[in-house]
Amino acid sequence: MIDENMRDVLIRHAMEARGRAYCPYSKYAVGAALMSENGEIYEGCNIENASYGGTVCAERVAIFGAVGEGIRTFRAIAIVGGPADNGAAGASENGFAVPDNEPFAWPCGFCRQVMREFCDPESFQIIVARNPEDYRVCTLAQLLPESFGPENLGK
Ligand SMILES: [Zn+2]
Repeated sequence: MIDENMRDVLIRHAMEARGRAYCPYSKYAVGAALMSENGEIYEGCNIENASYGGTVCAERVAIFGAVGEGIRTFRAIAIVGGPADNGAAGASENGFAVPDNEPFAWPCGFCRQVMREFCDPESFQIIVARNPEDYRVCTLAQLLPESFGPENLGK
């Protein structure tokens, strides 16, 4: 579990990461901030590709970055996403926040399954936010019920 303060920190990190999104095709900028079991934070942004299929979501950039450094257990992830001008999020007086009327950027199906590989579905928290005061929280099990995971293959 993470407390209110850590939630706030994670959302702010996700907003910062959103400012680094490379999204010239969708013009939809997403930032993610992943907290490992030991409290380290790993950031990610969506990175698009001219091939389209080579595109990777912010959540997976954060997760793969951590796993690439040998970290495989996580407590929570914050995600901030919405439209961006000119393929990058523009900073406003509220940083890289998302306008109030935008839908939350819930993780896609691929990212939910990748989370399932490394995170406990019952305790891993997914925080989708527009800014530090405007967010929703749920568990991975809520977003990916009755899931297939490593235990199915004896891991
Ligand atoms: Zn995704």
